[in-house]
Parts: sequence; C-alpha cells; structure tokens
Amino acid sequence: ANSLATVTITGAGGQIGYALLFRIASGQLLGPDTAVRLRLLEIPQGLRSAEGAALELQDSAFPLLQSVDVTDDAAGAFDGANVGLLVGSRPRGPGMERGDLLAANGAIFAPQGAAINAGAADDIRIVVVGNPANTNAFIASAHAPDVPRERFTALTRLDHNRALGQLSEALHAPVSQLRDVSIWGNHSATQFPDIAHATAGGRPVVELLEEQLGADAAREWIRDVFIPRVARRGAEIIEVRGSSSVASAASATIDHVRDWVSGTTHGWTSAALPSDGSYGVPDGLVSSFPVQSIDGQWRIVQGLELGAFARERIDASVAELIEEREAVKALGLL
Ligand code: NDP
Repeated sequence: ANSLATVTITGAGGQIGYALLFRIASGQLLGPDTAVRLRLLEIPQGLRSAEGAALELQDSAFPLLQSVDVTDDAAGAFDGANVGLLVGSRPRGPGMERGDLLAANGAIFAPQGAAINAGAADDIRIVVVGNPANTNAFIASAHAPDVPRERFTALTRLDHNRALGQLSEALHAPVSQLRDVSIWGNHSATQFPDIAHATAGGRPVVELLEEQLGADAAREWIRDVFIPRVARRGAEIIEVRGSSSVASAASATIDHVRDWVSGTTHGWTSAALPSDGSYGVPDGLVSSFPVQSIDGQWRIVQGLELGAFARERIDASVAELIEEREAVKALGLL
C-alpha cells in the first residue's frame, strides 16, 4: 500500500456496521493501494458488539488493515478521519412522533458534526446512512462550520441500486448495460426514482418499456409499480427477510464512497448533497440529485429537462425536506 486512510464508522456494532467493516478492511472502499485505520464509534450499549467485530477483523488478517480502535468518544473517533460513515442513528420507534425522532437524532448528529469540525482531516468525506439521513447530514454539517458543506452527504445509492435492479428485471437487461437513472429528493417514501433519461444498451428505457408493454401500460408501470416498489423496497425486505436490509445498505455505502473518491465512469449515479440551487431545490438543503464524481468531487448533472410529473414529484419530496429542516430549526438543533 502506498497510502493510509482513517475511516470512522458510527454505529459500527450494528448490523450494517458488521456488513461494512469487512468490505472496507479488504480494500473494497478505497482500493488495493490504500491501507486503512478503522475507528469504530458506538454508544456504550453498543461497545461490546463493536469489540466483537474488532476481534473478527483481527482474525481475518487483512493485509490492508493497519489498526482497529473501538470507542464511545466522538472526538477521538473523528480525529484525523478521512472518511466518516455515519450509520448509527435513532430509527423511528412505534408511536414516535417526528419531533421526537428529530430531537433524538439531533442529539447524535450535532456533537458528531462538532467532533468532525474539530478534528477531521482536511479531505474528510462524510456519508450519512442512519435515518432520517438527509436531515441528519444537514444537522451534522450545521455543526461543522469550518468544513465545506459539500463534504456532508447522505446515502440514496441504495435507492438508486434498487431502481437498477427493478429495471434490469423488467427489461431482461444486465445492470451493467443500464445508465443514468436518477433518485431525487429525500431518502424516504417521497423520493422520486426517475428513469426519463435512463438508457439500456444505449436505448432509452422508456422507449424499451413502451415497445414491451405499449405506451399506456408503460406509463402505468412506471407510476404504479416501479416508483412505489423502489420507494417501499425497505418495507418489502423487512416483510420477506424478517429484518431490515443490511448487506445491500452496506454495499450501497461502499459504492457511494468508492465513486466519490475514485470517480464515476459509466454515466451518472445518485447521491444526496447540499443543493447549490440546481433544479429549484433550495440552496443548502441536503437532497438527492443525479451526480457524477469528477476529481474527487460530486457534481450535480446539469441541464436535464423535467416534465410536469417529475417536477411535481421532486417538489413534493423537497417540501418534506423543508418541513424537516423547519422542525429541526424549531427544536433549536441548528
Ligand atoms: P442497522 O445497522 O441495521 O441500521 C443503522 C441505521 O441505518 C438505522 O438507523 C437505519 O434507519 C439506517 N438505514 C438507512 N438505510 C437503511 C436501509 N436501507 N436498511 C436498513 N437500515 C437503514 O441498525 P442496528 O440497530 O443494527 O445498529 C445501529 C447501531 O448504531 C447500534 O449498534 C447502536 O448502538 C448504534 N448507535 C450508535 C450511535 C453513535 O455511535 N453515536 C448513535 C446511535 C446508535 P431505519 O431503521 O430508519 O431504516
């Protein structure tokens, strides 16, 4: 290895953490030339589980793995960090109001933002996985005034990959031939999976669907089957598997950071990042966009034409993000 990176994972003792750690240590996040130092951040109740994972990392004898630290101290965990995977969060419990949810997560992501501000490396890249991911990223960024806001992103790559999986099945086309699917808005049921610009083997996906199903049925499939299935796939996984998606969430997290660091090569992907006002999304709101990664930075794909349906769906998801932001402000979490 000719370089060394420090990767901090919060909630590292949880399910997604367990699926992530071994892929990072094997070099799938940062490539075969970068040795990694892992920092596993947990709350006190999660420390034993994270320590157990650390023992198994030792037993895997990964040549690229330089060290593993387990801690419940955010300042120490983010000191010198190059990459932060913010997985640990407070998911919505039964009967939990949105205000309670946002307050609980504010108490997690505000101090983590401050710790990142105080000690992370200059090239820090953050991806928030823990829900409500977009708003958690917004909170963390607000508490890290010295870190450029575009370093704080949230994961919509799982939604993106889910969309690819559904299209692949419907078109009998390998995922490797699919390009330019977009996820817009919030990582929630209001997200807008958009295939208006997508291609399969170079041909517009919408045209292929129309050929296969007829124009009306294609439109219905997109609206009534594809979009809700992608947006509610998490619930479907829970129903079938008996617990929430773990390996696919970890895999998407790896994809997100790998592409951010190494670049996108085949068309675009999707990531939630602070808006620069593109497509009418209010400046600073952490929203998902079609993006390319160039020279280590996400760039929002510009100049896409949005039809009336797309505009309406994006506006609805953005409205939800604005509501979350206002609720967070009202709670004094910014
Ligand atoms: P998981 O590892 O399964 O999930 C972690 C978070 O990821 C959840 O909040 C979950 O939110 C979110 N998530 C985002 N996308 C997905 C997806 N597609 N599928 C499933 N989850 C998704 O949860 P565990 O309970 O196993 O582990 C969480 C760990 O975090 C615990 O060990 C806990 O101790 C720790 N924690 C650490 C904190 C810290 O370091 N400061 C703070 C809080 C918790 P959702 O359920 O809404 O999908």
